[in-house]
Amino acid sequence: MTEEPAVRVRGLHKRYGDKHAVDGLDLEVARGEIVAVLGPNGAGKTTTVEILEGYRTRDAGEVSVLGQDPGTAGRGWRARIGVVLQSSSDLDEATVTELVHHWAGFYPDPRDPEQVIDAVGLREKASARAGALSGGQRRRLDVALGIVGRPELLFLDEPTTGFDPEARRAFWDLIAGLRHDGTSILLTTHYLDEAEQLADRAVVVSNGRVVAAGAPADLGGRNARQAMVRWVEDGERREIRTDTPTAVVAELGTRFTEIPGLQVLRPTLEDVYLALIDDDAAETRAKEAVR
Ligand code: ATP
Repeated sequence: MTEEPAVRVRGLHKRYGDKHAVDGLDLEVARGEIVAVLGPNGAGKTTTVEILEGYRTRDAGEVSVLGQDPGTAGRGWRARIGVVLQSSSDLDEATVTELVHHWAGFYPDPRDPEQVIDAVGLREKASARAGALSGGQRRRLDVALGIVGRPELLFLDEPTTGFDPEARRAFWDLIAGLRHDGTSILLTTHYLDEAEQLADRAVVVSNGRVVAAGAPADLGGRNARQAMVRWVEDGERREIRTDTPTAVVAELGTRFTEIPGLQVLRPTLEDVYLALIDDDAAETRAKEAVR
């Protein structure tokens, strides 16, 4: 068995005219790993994902997806990857059932289309035309078409945009099932809770480069950052920033039987993400000022 990663990208570059959309990006997805790519609008996420899918050309860099170069890989390779694009296709006249069955026919070892329809929560809409689905239901249909081929590697570009909270939870369960089957997944998302819930690793992209990568719990040194301990004493709110919150709480415990208003807070993934993006924007402005 080869243990080469599902995705390996080194020094990827892509320009559109003067715009350096991807500017020396490195990325890796191990077999069976779920990686979330985060970044502001225009950071280069979709461009990168579409290069990996073989839908866009690159200007420079090494790219290997399931051991092949997506720029030259053939049909056999395409059958091993699953793609959920950001914009859904124009297949409005066909029904959900027709589309999922038809799509399954493109692959050598597809999942059972009826089980896929259930898994994405479209059973009640199985006979509806794609054109009559709501935005969130349409997105679920896109996900169904992406997974019906039983891909080894799945690309999900903002998969839950437009989902209601219940549908997002159901989608997370679906991804947990795919993880269990050993599917490698690269997803882009603007939802930090989604990255935290699903991803083994998160990669933050800004201005076409990776500015931080790591387990969501550790990103940007989050675990190592100081905690804030808050409580209420003599009717006033008190707070202490500390590296040793357990010791602070233990000391408070000697003074109170129940510590009023006790909270121990660490920066959220969103706090860390916003700080990383801000720092990168400041650095970019500084470099431009020097030019
Ligand atoms: P979003 O979160 O909004 O989906 P993104 O991170 O996916 O953003 P991309 O769509 O990859 O970003 O775009 C990166 C940059 O390249 C943007 O500045 C965008 O305007 C530009 N760009 C993308 N596609 C093209 C194109 N076909 N022609 C010209 N410029 C493009």
